[in-house]
Amino acid sequence: MAHRKENIVMFPFMAQGHIIPFLALALQLENTNKYTITFVNTPLNIKKLKSSLPPDSSIHLLEIPFNSIDHNLPPCTENTDSVPYHLIPDLLNASLSFKSHFRKLITDLIREQDEHKPLAIITGMYYGWCQEIAQELGVFHAIFIGGGGFGFACYYSLWLNLPHRNTDSDEFVLPDFPEASRIHVTQTAEHLRNADGSDSFSVFLKKVLPLWSNADGILVNTVEEFDNIGLTYFRRKLSRPVWPIGPVLLSTGSKAGSGKEFGISAEVCRNWLDSKPLNSVLYVSFGSQNTIAASQMIQLATALEASGKNFIWVVRPPIGFDINSDFKADKWMPEGFERRIKDSGRGLVIHKWAPQIEILSHKSVSAFLSHCGWNSVLESLSHGVPLIAWPLAAEQFYNSKLLEEEIQVCVEVARGKSCEVLHKEIAEKINLVMNETEKGKEMRRKASEVREIIEDAVKNEEKYQGSSVKSMEQFLNVAFMMRENKMNEV
Ligand code: UDP
Repeated sequence: MAHRKENIVMFPFMAQGHIIPFLALALQLENTNKYTITFVNTPLNIKKLKSSLPPDSSIHLLEIPFNSIDHNLPPCTENTDSVPYHLIPDLLNASLSFKSHFRKLITDLIREQDEHKPLAIITGMYYGWCQEIAQELGVFHAIFIGGGGFGFACYYSLWLNLPHRNTDSDEFVLPDFPEASRIHVTQTAEHLRNADGSDSFSVFLKKVLPLWSNADGILVNTVEEFDNIGLTYFRRKLSRPVWPIGPVLLSTGSKAGSGKEFGISAEVCRNWLDSKPLNSVLYVSFGSQNTIAASQMIQLATALEASGKNFIWVVRPPIGFDINSDFKADKWMPEGFERRIKDSGRGLVIHKWAPQIEILSHKSVSAFLSHCGWNSVLESLSHGVPLIAWPLAAEQFYNSKLLEEEIQVCVEVARGKSCEVLHKEIAEKINLVMNETEKGKEMRRKASEVREIIEDAVKNEEKYQGSSVKSMEQFLNVAFMMRENKMNEV
């Protein structure tokens, strides 16, 4: 008799940076041929996902009802990439309305499966409330943090210890952190820096983050060998199993789960990269939802020209302009910039969305100027590409700190969306990393070492299993055992 495949339900928060690692995890589990996946999200996100799933995937996409207008959000806003920044707290709060829908959805699912329960429900970091529903229905519940251990340990510690700064000093020690870790005030996003616990971000996060300690386990998209400080913090803090299963990444050729059209065809991009010498190109991108100020954009453009390096830059409208509008190079770039770099063949400016994984995996790319969103970090390190960090928000500041101070594969060039940044300094950092300087060579050596650590962590051979593969097996075994025990109790 053929074995029934176990079903796993996955439900990420409505943001590209959250949906992408969930989708990657869904595809990874589906590829083992042992699991079917039910992927839950709001109607518009499901629609986008439909167009970005590989044709042979049988992931079941399931809509959870949501109408942004009911939450005072603009029509059709179901993802942080289409919500103006000041409305993000409203989007976060709107997600609390899913509770009753989610309960019904899982109950219906169990009924449709002849009372056979899913093996596990894996939800996003803001959906810890799902534990109550999972427990009620007797299903294992794990939270999947698509970000890194250290980054989210800092984030968790700061948001749950407000106000975090009791002195006038610009530096402070992270509260309840295992290693004495110093944070500078500029390493806190503006809304966190000013938070006193009563603002809308704090109120939401103080409600949802403590729920992590109720989950049956925490999955983290990272690797034990280079991100151990944060994992140790969570193990102590939450007294829960914490399984580092990363890097969980989409493969080359996918549309990164975005359903977005690339601002350039992957082929044109590849041909351009093919025409460049080995290790000669800087890739610049600030991820799916962040953008920099207009004045910073001018400085960056000037630095890219002055550095003399080949580059690919993914541009989005600067802060203060409609993020969904077309890019106006004549307004937001130095005069004649796009024409000059096109004529010289030295630069490729891509509007809005680029085939990032293809770019990072190309042999002509030698460094990544990044906002240090964790997916970007893992994609870069998996290809042995060192980083130049310009963290902009959330836990990106701590990702940059980990990369620079602990892993030593990164130099930070700027911090935040409002800092003054000078083109000379940016160009100097680009040259430091990309030229044959001692620092540049050392960073490239370390980045290759980390690439090998990552390859090892995901190795799954008859006689050897890497740390991330072992963690994943442990998670699935614990979920399986819990369900068997529950069935025996009945
Ligand atoms: N991405 C992409 N093309 C772009 C910008 C981003 O494919 O032009 C993908 C990128 O490969 C990564 C994700 O979008 O997988 C961004 O996630 P990350 O955690 O780096 O940053 P966030 O967007 O969440 O700030």
